[in-house]
Amino acid sequence: MRGMPPTPSAQLVVMKFGGSSVATADRIRHVARRIARERARGSDLVVVVSAMGDTTDELLALAHAITDEPDPRELDLLLGTGEHQSATLVSMALHALGVDAISLTGAQAGISTDGRYGKARIADIDPRRVRGEIAAGRVVIVAGFQGIARTTTPIAGEASGADRPAGAIPSETAADVAELTTLGRGGSDTTAVALAARLGADRCQIFTDVRGIYTADPRLVPGARQLSVIGYEEMLELAYQGAQVMNVRAVELGWVDGVVIEVLSSFEDAPGTLIKEDPIVEQRNKVRGLAHDRNVAKITLVDVPDRPGVARTVFQPLADAAINVDMIVQNVGHGGSTDLSFTVPKVELAKAKRILEPIVRDLGFREMTTDSSVAKVSIIGAGIQNAPGYAARMFGALADAGVNIEMISTSEVRITTIVAEDDVETAVRALHEAFALATPDPVDAGAAEAAAS
Ligand code: ADP
Ligand code: ASP
Ligand code: MG
Repeated sequence: MRGMPPTPSAQLVVMKFGGSSVATADRIRHVARRIARERARGSDLVVVVSAMGDTTDELLALAHAITDEPDPRELDLLLGTGEHQSATLVSMALHALGVDAISLTGAQAGISTDGRYGKARIADIDPRRVRGEIAAGRVVIVAGFQGIARTTTPIAGEASGADRPAGAIPSETAADVAELTTLGRGGSDTTAVALAARLGADRCQIFTDVRGIYTADPRLVPGARQLSVIGYEEMLELAYQGAQVMNVRAVELGWVDGVVIEVLSSFEDAPGTLIKEDPIVEQRNKVRGLAHDRNVAKITLVDVPDRPGVARTVFQPLADAAINVDMIVQNVGHGGSTDLSFTVPKVELAKAKRILEPIVRDLGFREMTTDSSVAKVSIIGAGIQNAPGYAARMFGALADAGVNIEMISTSEVRITTIVAEDDVETAVRALHEAFALATPDPVDAGAAEAAAS
């Protein structure tokens, strides 16, 4: 038997390091020292890594330099290499420190997903390999952001999957194949939380380039305040409305499986933020944080016939193409027609336009206009809707700052506005000020104590 025998009381820690934390060889060595320190305390460790620095963006740009529409299967296999690279290097850096370690791809770590390239969901994790490596005394480094989808594909020479009617797979011409899938941008967070849940880890730590979760993006709002605790619901909404610090799916999984997620700096030793069930949310200032999202484009269909079924004709094909339509505003009809505005992710605008052009033509809408220089700005907090006055205060602060609101939507936990992209910084700073978010909420002190105990 190689390595140390496992001690029954060893705590299992999942540590995830984001792209900026492993951006260079120096930073990888720094991360390795941090891992080695935790290992020396006797913890069993599963480490999830993202691709180095901007590698994923660079690989995407490379693919798009080759072709406008890269094949999704090839693209995922390409993107997966970013995390393979960092996982192997972190493992080597640990070896150099005398720490027994092994890197695994998502597939080797037993992570299976559905077959949606580029936005796959984790379907299951077979933990045997990871558990075996831990039991053998190794630190396990898992390539984040990826898994494997099993499909049935004909063997060479047979009709392609696309030509074959669904369900008509003659077994003698079919073979099981495994395809690498990626989980969507920021998906390494999801890998970490899913592994923590499946392995029953004692801690799940997300190391990043800021100290934790703040009341707004600290890069945009210098006075943003770090939170000691944030509830799953509020964190989910922040993530969904654009706070890239945590991936949406990761927070969802954490909530469902009750994984307490710790977000902390990989560069300094400082207390982080705990994402967990937050029972004292009711007592607080109702606005907990702000989020902004520049990955937004607005589409307006002008003079849409005002009759039943039109909305379905517009939105069904977008849904079929898995385009995520977000805010929808239909104006009051005038003379038998109406204007319909909605937002889609900026990266999907070209695809959405391609899908809508024939519909606009066939149904005789006057025109389709698009605007990709808009952004979403949201105030978020559990119970916002039950607390009167927040909307008025938000719109007033934006007006005072000279920011024009183009669209508005609300839910129980947020109020979102669409503004010009150039106004984002002004808007977020004005709202941070208007809701006094830099001032600690008295209840937070109690929360910090509760979190520490
Ligand atoms: P990683 O590479 O570690 O996954 P990300 O770039 O995905 O890191 O996320 C960290 C970044 O998220 C920070 O640098 C910060 O600019 C941004 N961010 C946005 N909103 C927030 C927020 N509310 N709190 C903390 N960071 C935020
Ligand atoms: N490397 C991937 C991305 O840039 C996944 C991640 O960083 O979590 O989106
Ligand atoms: Mg990230």
